[in-house]
Amino acid sequence: MAASVFDKVIRKIAHWRYFNNIKQNYVNSIPFLTKNEIDEIQKTKLKYILYNAINTVPFYKKSGIKIDFDNFTIAELNKFPIVNKELIRNDPKSFLSTKNKGIVSQTSGSTGIPFEYYLPFKSTAIELLTANRAWGMGEVYEYKYKDPIIMMRSYSPKIGEPITLYDSTHNYFYISAFHINDKFLNQYIDYIINSKAKILRGYPSSIYIFTLLLKKHNIILNQIQSIITSSETLLPMYREEIEKYWGVKVLDWYGQNENTVTVQQCWAGNYHNNDDYGIIEINEQNSIIATSLNNDVMPFIRYNTNDKAILLDSEIDKCICGRNFSIPFKGIEGRSEDILIKMDGTWIPTANFSTAMKAYKELNQFQVIQNENRSLQLNLVINPGISNDYIDDIKHEFTQRLGELSIEVNITEQIYRDPKTGKVKVSIQKGKL
Ligand SMILES: [Zn+2]
Repeated sequence: MAASVFDKVIRKIAHWRYFNNIKQNYVNSIPFLTKNEIDEIQKTKLKYILYNAINTVPFYKKSGIKIDFDNFTIAELNKFPIVNKELIRNDPKSFLSTKNKGIVSQTSGSTGIPFEYYLPFKSTAIELLTANRAWGMGEVYEYKYKDPIIMMRSYSPKIGEPITLYDSTHNYFYISAFHINDKFLNQYIDYIINSKAKILRGYPSSIYIFTLLLKKHNIILNQIQSIITSSETLLPMYREEIEKYWGVKVLDWYGQNENTVTVQQCWAGNYHNNDDYGIIEINEQNSIIATSLNNDVMPFIRYNTNDKAILLDSEIDKCICGRNFSIPFKGIEGRSEDILIKMDGTWIPTANFSTAMKAYKELNQFQVIQNENRSLQLNLVINPGISNDYIDDIKHEFTQRLGELSIEVNITEQIYRDPKTGKVKVSIQKGKL
């Protein structure tokens, strides 16, 4: 089911009303409040979300959970069960508030089964503000709303359409991720220079490929002062190459389509949770369990994202960037779609392979597709003239970690991009998790 025109109009009105009302504090002040003040905001928002769930959402209404709303603390959250996508997908109605209305949204899901969920009408405003806040976390340059941004994502021109697109509402300069090659390089460089943007945002794979291209032609672009990556796992080899070339830190962002939590790296390298947006717990499998503090339409309470976090070596109490938003983990090991499965059924995040692949300097990019019968297809973008032994060594890295699986190697000039989103997936899991 797609959202109706009526719902979209309501969303638009809600967007601008909410956006303008909370803009100033949301972006500039809240992250710098004291820890106690941030806790207080979180507590107030959580109390409302839980109260709303117990009273208007069938699944929680009939659960018999007793919450102490008079002496409410964040610990009351522990009384709620952990839920997941399957549970919600099996009976979506019982997770919908009977009182609050919102707009329907959909994700295709890693296994291709669509997942439909609802978001509050004001969610686009919250997303935009949260993004604005995140983009301002650079060291030298702090993004301000309506500053120009180069967007190397989300634009996939049809045949005959221009390869760049300007969005005047937000001052975004879109570049097609499908045309990052020698032929269009000059056009892209002119476009970037004319935009005067100091910030480059995109999928890690696109920025990485663009970086390799600039390097190949010995072109230095001094103008960019912040690089923001999101939506794909930022591989260590990507980060290293990009940071070395541009001389700026890559600020990575983590979030999901369901808008439950968002986490953003600051210039000091720490991943800050947006504490006024969602609550993060990490379970024994290192999975991120997320609670949205904004969604009162289809509340996501202790929702297992199946995305894997890299744990902190030790707790970080105070970040030198000055923000008091909590630091829940050291990084993202792999998203739920980035899971490979051993013959015995063990899950292995693709990030393990990314780390191993770093040693292969002739390998520019790779993608691994696991079929339903667990066999693998390896797509490799590799420098010309590489021996078969080298490729066998790469194959061995996979069998060593996954067991004796059949592997088909495909040497290619580029990795296939999703035609709709322009995303490059490091791994595609066709089998059941
Ligand atoms: Zn920080």
